[in-house]
Amino acid sequence: MTWDIVGHEKAIDVLKRAVGDEQRLSHAYLFAGPEQVGRATVARKFAQALNCTGEGDRPCGECRGCRLIAEEKHPDVETMSIGGVCDESEHKDHSKDNSQDIRICQVRRLQHIVSRAPFEARMRVIIVDPADALTTEASNAFLKTLEEPPDNVVLVLVTSREEALPETVRSRCRRIAFGGASRAEIETAMRERWGADAEKAVKLSRMAQGRLGWAVDALDNEQALDDREEVLDEIAGLLKGGDRERFEYARALGDRYQRNNKAVRDSLNVWSDWWRDVLLTASGEEELALANDRLDTLRSHASQYGIAGAVRALRALTDVQQHLDEHASPTLALEVMLLELPR
Ligand SMILES: [Zn+2]
Ligand SMILES: [Zn+2]
Repeated sequence: MTWDIVGHEKAIDVLKRAVGDEQRLSHAYLFAGPEQVGRATVARKFAQALNCTGEGDRPCGECRGCRLIAEEKHPDVETMSIGGVCDESEHKDHSKDNSQDIRICQVRRLQHIVSRAPFEARMRVIIVDPADALTTEASNAFLKTLEEPPDNVVLVLVTSREEALPETVRSRCRRIAFGGASRAEIETAMRERWGADAEKAVKLSRMAQGRLGWAVDALDNEQALDDREEVLDEIAGLLKGGDRERFEYARALGDRYQRNNKAVRDSLNVWSDWWRDVLLTASGEEELALANDRLDTLRSHASQYGIAGAVRALRALTDVQQHLDEHASPTLALEVMLLELPR
């Protein structure tokens, strides 16, 4: 079994050596790299390797520890994430309140857990994903655990925006960098491991931009590809319309954001991909575009808006994502973005 991961050889090398030698094992790691490239998957393998009781290469994938961790049921391996649980009687479960951050109450629960000896693991592993979602209060509280980590605890902080983490937090972690997989690696993995047919493997590997996790999700979930088509249609329609359509669209997106912020963030990623494609096409690099199934529209946007228009749109999209992160009014932030788009 061993690690059985596509790519990330360097990261795994470092972690394997730490598993074999306690002197090299850090109490805290920062897994830094883009979304959906496999950071959390590697974190779970690391937890398995640290706790495997099988013979031979670790993780064996078959012992009790390995199995429980793979099923996310191990009592000593926890992921703390947005919408997780806490011990406060008034809240308890944040999955129902459209939570956008990791709260101090969740950190307190964690601190209570790590203050006791593990139930059965050799090493308790706590994965914080995404670590950049810790509120300021929460990360201050978490810092105490980082400063005086209990024995038998390994903390793994997962982030795609390490600049958003306080320096005090970052400096206490061993940083492990994660990059995307190559198009060829994703294509092969889609065919050989996930049973995709050749045509779909090519298409997904092209659209995945190094994110194997995205390709795997999209393979199982036709909905993700349909959603993308729908957003692309909306983009094309909206650019033809006037300010009024833009305001209406912003309001609809703002409402949707209150209910399901992840869906809106996914749409904004599709928008960014689209404008990157327009930029590439306008720069004569059409063959690098992801939306190669919509070349006609791409070409027409490229000639209409040019490089300057595409750059302006990309900037508006970066700004809106930042404003949303800072908890600005979503409708206002989205209106500003839509009005900034070229016309
Ligand atoms: Zn095992
Ligand atoms: Zn709470």
